[in-house]
Amino acid sequence: MNKSKNSVLKNPIEQMLDESTMTSFDHVIINANIATFSTQYGFDIYVDNQADSNPYGQLHNAAIGIKNGKIAWIGTKDQVTAHLPKYQDSQITDVDGKWITPGLIDCHTHIVYGGNRSNEFEARLQGASYQDIAAQGGGIVATVSATRAASIESLFTQSEKRLVALMKEGVTSIEIKSGYGLDLDTERKMLTVARQLGEKYDIHVSTTYLAAHALPPEYKNRADDYIEQVCEWLPILYAEGLVNAVDGFCENIAFRTEQIRRVFEVARLLDLPVKLHSEQLSDIGGSALVAEYKGLSSDHLEHLSEENIKKMAASNTVAVILPGAFYTLRDTKLPPIEALRKHKVPMAISTDCNPGTSPLTSLLLTMNMGCTLFYLTPEEVLAGSTIYAAQALGLPNKGRIEVGCDADLALWDIARPADLAYQMGLNPIQGIMVQGQWRETI
Ligand SMILES: [Zn+2]
Repeated sequence: MNKSKNSVLKNPIEQMLDESTMTSFDHVIINANIATFSTQYGFDIYVDNQADSNPYGQLHNAAIGIKNGKIAWIGTKDQVTAHLPKYQDSQITDVDGKWITPGLIDCHTHIVYGGNRSNEFEARLQGASYQDIAAQGGGIVATVSATRAASIESLFTQSEKRLVALMKEGVTSIEIKSGYGLDLDTERKMLTVARQLGEKYDIHVSTTYLAAHALPPEYKNRADDYIEQVCEWLPILYAEGLVNAVDGFCENIAFRTEQIRRVFEVARLLDLPVKLHSEQLSDIGGSALVAEYKGLSSDHLEHLSEENIKKMAASNTVAVILPGAFYTLRDTKLPPIEALRKHKVPMAISTDCNPGTSPLTSLLLTMNMGCTLFYLTPEEVLAGSTIYAAQALGLPNKGRIEVGCDADLALWDIARPADLAYQMGLNPIQGIMVQGQWRETI
């Protein structure tokens, strides 16, 4: 262990500032236990000897000073007590020993879609096969039809409920994908709704272009022609300010790596980061492709090989683990968690909220699934919903609590951070702060 880390662990919060700075915060939080997920406070999930790390980068009896939407100071309550009379009561939040984490980040969602598929869920449980349902126009085609038919207002209203459910469990940043339009107008409509959701709820929304999600019925047996269209639409939607990243579904039942590569080439020309649905059902090399393009993340990964894990490690690509889809599909092939740990690939988790394989709007339940189904630790799933989810979205100022980061926080009535992954169905949220503002109602 190096000396500087040792001193950090012994006395992690001793930052002193002058009087004028200590009285200039917009907001002060006192009596907090904080899971910072910051290496400055000893967080190191991949350390060889756990005794050398401070789990969750946790701080006790701590205080936070917030200014201009950023975390401006972190210290002890004693350090700030003498200055508190200079503040109005409304500027001080005494959280009375409750826990603060970074605002949670759901880094892989499809929450914007029309209709839902509970009818198919019921039919399957009554004995219908996937083929029966597909023959009746069900499956993804049903969602594409409903999404194409929905007005922008209707699509917004339908999708808003899902965002609110996530925010009620501490989500302050979210990624939202297109991919149920599969034509230019509807892809645009989905991304526009995603942007509108971010504006109405004033939270960070990263939009991802996922036209290479499935082959629309009108392109049956013409996948290459469809990919050509996908490549043509991307610069148009990017120019309209609707695209932050580019995604695809790389699978035998979707698109081959060479088809995805064509889309990634356009992304590269636009300097847009890429990510991919990879190795969910088979290993056809999606993660290697993402690594080649230095992509932000490769997602699903049940069939990921160690060879491609090494490539992800070399390109610093995040592995996004999606237990909701594994659960819904009753999958049995576990993602290679131990090998991802061995090669120190950062792991994020996400709801993958979508109408087909993961109708899940609870990031807390996702954490529990990550622990129970995939043997992740509570620290791993919480890091996967904060610091590494931020990395999966290319957001360097979010997902951890340290000076200079965005003041996006979640306040929890819990005994310890592991409670968030342990409880099922009990929501201990007390409030969220986004860019330095507490939200009165979520
Ligand atoms: Zn997905």
